[in-house]
Amino acid sequence: MGDSRSTPVIGKGKVLLKLTFGKVLALCDVLHVPYIRWNLVSVSLLGKAGVRILFDSDKIVLTKNDAFVGKGYYNQGLFLLNVYDIINNNASSFSAYIVDFCDIWYGRLGHVNFSYMKRMVELSLIPKLSLENHGKCESCVESKTIKKFCKSVERESDLLSLIHSDLGDLKNTMTRGGKRFYITFIDDYSRYTRVYLLRNKDEARDVFIKYKNEVENQLSKKIKRLRTDRGREYESNPFNSFCEDHGIINETTPPYSPESNGVAERKNRILKDMMNAMLVSSGAPLNLWGEAILSACHIQNRIPYKKTAYLKVWECLAKVLIPEPKKRKLGLKTFDAMFIGYAENSTTYRFLITKSENNPVDVKTIIETKNAEFFENIFPMKLNGEQQVQKTSRDKSIEPFEFEPKKSKRDRKETNLGDGFYTFLINEDPKSYKEAITSPDAPFWKEAIDSEIESIMYNHTWELVDLPPGAKTIGCKWIFKRKLK
Ligand SMILES: [Zn+2]
Repeated sequence: MGDSRSTPVIGKGKVLLKLTFGKVLALCDVLHVPYIRWNLVSVSLLGKAGVRILFDSDKIVLTKNDAFVGKGYYNQGLFLLNVYDIINNNASSFSAYIVDFCDIWYGRLGHVNFSYMKRMVELSLIPKLSLENHGKCESCVESKTIKKFCKSVERESDLLSLIHSDLGDLKNTMTRGGKRFYITFIDDYSRYTRVYLLRNKDEARDVFIKYKNEVENQLSKKIKRLRTDRGREYESNPFNSFCEDHGIINETTPPYSPESNGVAERKNRILKDMMNAMLVSSGAPLNLWGEAILSACHIQNRIPYKKTAYLKVWECLAKVLIPEPKKRKLGLKTFDAMFIGYAENSTTYRFLITKSENNPVDVKTIIETKNAEFFENIFPMKLNGEQQVQKTSRDKSIEPFEFEPKKSKRDRKETNLGDGFYTFLINEDPKSYKEAITSPDAPFWKEAIDSEIESIMYNHTWELVDLPPGAKTIGCKWIFKRKLK
């Protein structure tokens, strides 16, 4: 148990979870532990059984072979599955919780320090996770440099009055775009950080000019001082003449004395550690370091105060909607890709396409879009061992019905989704809202309606405005459809 006590297991058996949408989830070798108050279901074991779990900010959706299985909502630090009934003599209460949610947020936040996560929980920026029992993260132990910073540094009192810059060298691992260096610019006052990737060191000056133009224009302030680390990165300081021309004092710190450029050193260390942890934990090829450090910087600029609900676990599997011109009538409507970061200056995500079969878009291209579903517990680049086994068995079972025309699905009375899954015979779809909420399935329709409304509100689908003179409104109605996959 969490507090390292142990408690007796008095039995083992099969448990059927009857979910509210009619599917039954069969769990084998379930331990009967009478002193645990909650019925717990492990995410990783569900994963081994081929169940995919999609995490939204406060909601989870379970699917198998792309068919909907069930869902649940965030509740007291865990996810509560919407369970209609638990079929087992020993089950103590009618609820089942999903554990491991903490890991998802930990991944979304780029393996950030737990103290940050605690702070964000306190500020209600992320759900109330219980972080107390969280053990060590293997990827972090493997990838992070152990170095303690204890010196606190005084801050400047205004934006842009001091900018720290540092140049990182990864010349042995070129990115896909041929970049070998990165440069950081950190505002001492706000700690807002920008990272740029460079092909060679000579580009540093141009990038600084770009940065300067942007921040000065946006903030209507001027950069006063630039602090760089002399000797190591900037042998012949590329900023000297430029800074002189623009009245910027270019301070240099003595070589190999990182303590005199503490802010930049610390921030660079954090970014580098996050980049490494993200690469190690996702199994991504090292030439994606550029995307990783840009994502780490994106996260760093948002924690702990800004909204993070849209963050996703780096390098996780995403099913991206095929863009309109390439869309087909039959077959898959999405393709598999890997989530690699956040687009600059827009609210879209970046994806690297990983799967070529049945895909109208070339593998290894990068696309930016909003239309994707994320599977934050699956990492395409980590496909070895257990995940590989799961993948192959899944592919076999998916073939028979994935490409069938829709009509035959409607006629089907029972779809075999693999061991333990059954769908039930269903009635006609309701024609109106009234019919839906008075039908025997009313609780399910109610839930579907609530969830639809919730997503419409969440996406800010409309804005309320006054009707312009002479204009007429068009009505709208609910359309109810059962999913028969
Ligand atoms: Zn970690």
